[in-house]
Amino acid sequence: MELWYTEKQTPNVGITCKTKCTLVVEKTKYQELAIIDTEQFGRMLVLDGMVQTTIKDEFVYHEMITHIPLFTHPNPKTVVIIGGGDGGAVRETLKHPSVEKVYLVEIDERVVENSKRYLPEVSCGLSDPRCEVLFQDGIEFIARHENAFDVVLVDSTEPIGPAAGLFAKDFYASIYRALKEDGLFVAQTESPFFNADLICNTYTSIKQVFPIVRLYLASIPTYPSGLWSFTLGSKRYDPLEVDENQILPIDTKYYSPEIHKSVFKLPRFVKELLESNG
Ligand code: SAM
Repeated sequence: MELWYTEKQTPNVGITCKTKCTLVVEKTKYQELAIIDTEQFGRMLVLDGMVQTTIKDEFVYHEMITHIPLFTHPNPKTVVIIGGGDGGAVRETLKHPSVEKVYLVEIDERVVENSKRYLPEVSCGLSDPRCEVLFQDGIEFIARHENAFDVVLVDSTEPIGPAAGLFAKDFYASIYRALKEDGLFVAQTESPFFNADLICNTYTSIKQVFPIVRLYLASIPTYPSGLWSFTLGSKRYDPLEVDENQILPIDTKYYSPEIHKSVFKLPRFVKELLESNG
């Protein structure tokens, strides 16, 4: 018998994948969690009915949320990842030789435990001695620190439940205080096709807090609409001023020195979206 999994990405659009088997379904303290093995994308982590990561296309999201900020900062040593319990952003962060310490601040211990068991290709960096995993609310963790970090990555779920506050202006102001004087941060900011209001609001909020704000895009097949945005806020370094000849060679499948600046060249409708909010 054929079994298919559908994520309803909007009330009117869904993505459907033929499954091989379901490895886990459980209700954690924070969300419903499932790991499904699919024919097209391999193993897939689903939280509250939304695809978070799949073995076949996770490289795009994890490389792009990590290498753009880490190659924009000239010497990132201390990195914080908020959310990101699958471990993919940690794995990519650890490819940077300057990085001495990565804090993964994930609210839900079960995401990390299940990712370690069922998604070893993604979670492999979590056992690295430079990585410290903390099970707590990222908002509270950031609020307790001042002038402490070089780079913060907000690798969050959609803005509902415990992640809602990760898209608020107060949180961006708190990240500003937690960063060193030349620090920078990136947040995943959803789809320009389906989440235009969210993109406008986060871009405007980050612009009110950071002197440099830049939005970039990547193509991710299993995320709603397939086109995904990330927004970077920086105190000093501008990703558009990076000398691509100085970027160290690292092992990647999507990110490259050539695309470091080109991903900031936005389609007209996305540019207009940002300009419409001043
Ligand atoms: N790549 C993903 C995406 O965009 O779909 C995000 C992956 S990662 C699994 C997101 C994680 O953020 C989840 O495991 C969730 O538990 C965590 N999270 C949500 N709110 C949080 C908060 N306030 N503090 C820390 N972690 C949080």
